[in-house]
Amino acid sequence: PVERRPDIQESRLQLPILAEEQVLMEAIKDNPVVVVCGETGSGKTTQIPQFLYEAGYGRDAMIGITEPRRVAAVSMSQRVAEEMNLSQRTVSYQIRYEGNVTPETKVKFMTDGVLLKEMQKDLLLSKYSVLVIDEAHERSVYTDILIGLLSRVVPLRTKKGNPLKLVIMSATLRIEDFTHNQRLFKISPPVIKVNARQFPVTVHFNKQTPGEYLQEAYKKVCKIHRMLPAGGILVFLTGQAEVHALCRKLQRSFPSVGDAKVKKTAESKETKKSKKEQKLLKIDLDNYTIEGDEDQADDGILEDDIDLEAHIVGVDDEDDMDDNGDMPTSDADLPIHVLPLYSLLPPDRQQRVFLPPPAGSRLVVVATNVAETSLTIPHIKYVVDTGKVKKRFYDKVTGASAFQVTWVSKASADQRAGRAGRTEPGHCYRLYSSAVFSDFQTFSPPEIARRPVEDLVLQMKDMSIDKVVNFPFPTPPDVEAVHAAEQLLVQLGALQHTAKPKDPKAAPSPVITPLGRAMARFPVSPRFSKMLALGEQHGLLPYVISIVAALTVQEIFLSGGGPAGRAEEQQEQQEQHAHSSIAQLKNTWAGQGQSLLLGDIMVLLRAVGACEFAGCTNKFCEDNGLRYKAMTEIRSLRTLLTNAINTVCPGAKVHIDPNMRPPTELQAKLLRQIMLSGLGDRIARRVPTDQISDKSHKFAYQSTSMEEYVFIHPSSVLTKTRPEYVIFHEIIEARKPYMHCVAAVEPE
Ligand code: ADP
Ligand code: MG
Repeated sequence: PVERRPDIQESRLQLPILAEEQVLMEAIKDNPVVVVCGETGSGKTTQIPQFLYEAGYGRDAMIGITEPRRVAAVSMSQRVAEEMNLSQRTVSYQIRYEGNVTPETKVKFMTDGVLLKEMQKDLLLSKYSVLVIDEAHERSVYTDILIGLLSRVVPLRTKKGNPLKLVIMSATLRIEDFTHNQRLFKISPPVIKVNARQFPVTVHFNKQTPGEYLQEAYKKVCKIHRMLPAGGILVFLTGQAEVHALCRKLQRSFPSVGDAKVKKTAESKETKKSKKEQKLLKIDLDNYTIEGDEDQADDGILEDDIDLEAHIVGVDDEDDMDDNGDMPTSDADLPIHVLPLYSLLPPDRQQRVFLPPPAGSRLVVVATNVAETSLTIPHIKYVVDTGKVKKRFYDKVTGASAFQVTWVSKASADQRAGRAGRTEPGHCYRLYSSAVFSDFQTFSPPEIARRPVEDLVLQMKDMSIDKVVNFPFPTPPDVEAVHAAEQLLVQLGALQHTAKPKDPKAAPSPVITPLGRAMARFPVSPRFSKMLALGEQHGLLPYVISIVAALTVQEIFLSGGGPAGRAEEQQEQQEQHAHSSIAQLKNTWAGQGQSLLLGDIMVLLRAVGACEFAGCTNKFCEDNGLRYKAMTEIRSLRTLLTNAINTVCPGAKVHIDPNMRPPTELQAKLLRQIMLSGLGDRIARRVPTDQISDKSHKFAYQSTSMEEYVFIHPSSVLTKTRPEYVIFHEIIEARKPYMHCVAAVEPE
């Protein structure tokens, strides 16, 4: 029996899903597969696992819930444990780097990738009685594959007399890829719709679409805070750096609860600044239209807000604002409570968005896409949507990837708007015009249609799914992408064309090699697995493991603090910061000659080596500009990889040596060869200076995979030397397409 706290019980009763408990549980009892659709915030993620637990599904086996995002797996397991008054020994989570699963675990939240790995070991998932696939509308590639696999496992388990229930949850009604897909489910699964109380949200478009959306978002938040009644503001930006930049800017412009008094007495710089902002506001008025746009009327969507305009007219007189903070139309002196929210934010800081803001202040949450559907933030009345999202784009054939900021889909924009109407009618301010919106894609295509699939192909081959094209995908990947993946895997030695195909009429499909099987065991991409395999042969595993772990974990260097407004300023600071971190690290872990050979890879090795030597303490990381969380993740991943390798090749006998010395020059040369074995197609050559057409570039590179010039990232140790040939880990588009983690190579 579950004994919930009275306050929890009360807030649960507010959730629309509670009204559906009986219908839902009966559907699950009577059907092997059930689809649940409910608006974000209706209580799917926090409540359905509890319903299942109370119905006894956790008695003899586990209730598994998969999430596409790590942050959701961690935070939802904590929330559900708290709601049920159970310890995290019973309601636990597992993500790639860490987890708190125990033998007592009954409810297990995990990332979809973790479950896929588990299926490699136990296809029938005999430890689970029910699997809940959350956020299926996101169409993450692992979610799609899991649904495909589970569509086959469910009947197998039924045949064995030990049925497995499958619950697919979606925040949108766009589920026909699952429900009307004969290859996937012969009998269409029943769909349970949860009718959420959603209050109306008025959508306002900008008349024009500004180039500087960050600046525009700042101005919009200021306006809302100054002009509009109480209610939280949620801002959607694209990345962590932007989130911090805006948070700082807002914090400087408005007092927080603690310093409200100080603010009123001192004629500070901030006040002058806000005068300037008001000037900007006036100019900005030109960007808005007052009449509604007829074209948009049928959607119930208006052009920019007339009410807001009316209020802005009231501010025209600057002196009014400065002398009289109590003006009814202005609450500029009211404090704001600004909170960042993004995936890499530590969980305890993420939790803060769920708490009510300090009395008398307005909550402002500055978030990335995580706030779109994974986490429902309470108390939001206004949404400021830049319409942008940072996405990774891949070249289907070469697999070269780049992060790019692009427009979201219409469906995403509507999800974002919906965040404003959870508790009362709200407003969504779109910082782009309705014309721009009408060009948005209706839905973003599923991830599997956009990304290379070499890791999936390898994992599927390892699970004896030889004909990847015949797999019951909710949406099949591009044939071209599957082909490119097979080619890369053949090149890496993981697959092999057979002399005698089993079915001579069918298109040839390469089969997995013993090396491929070993590679499939490693929880990293096939390129990295290949490096590990070669590292084993050359006795360089400890180095290769460290490099692979460091390349896999994101953003190991701390981003710089200090004031930042424009994205470029911010970036420059980060670059300088990275420079100084690297300079310091040079002294901590010697090996200068090797630096020339290994470039940025040596910097990573140095970071890992020096940090491990120092015991991986928070202080060491801070002193050296390393992100502590990243370093602990690298450490976990090294342990994971070390164990995986010892299992796969018992002869290897690797261990993590805290006293790992820098590689010798010979070893450094070999390491470079090993890097090349995995990144052989990620090579760039310097363009001769006289051939650079755009003279604003002093130097540029031409990579094998992109037509555009690419550049060495300013944080690289090779920005000055600029070798003729380089290999790189990836290209990330910022102000320019930058190659990250670069090392020099000589032409063969
Ligand atoms: P869904 O999965 O349908 O989007 P959730 O189950 O995530 O909905 O959320 C249901 C409610 O629980 C929301 O109102 C949300 O704000 C609240 N909630 C979720 N996590 C927490 C938390 N950690 N602390 C407080 N409230 C939370
Ligand atoms: Mg959810």
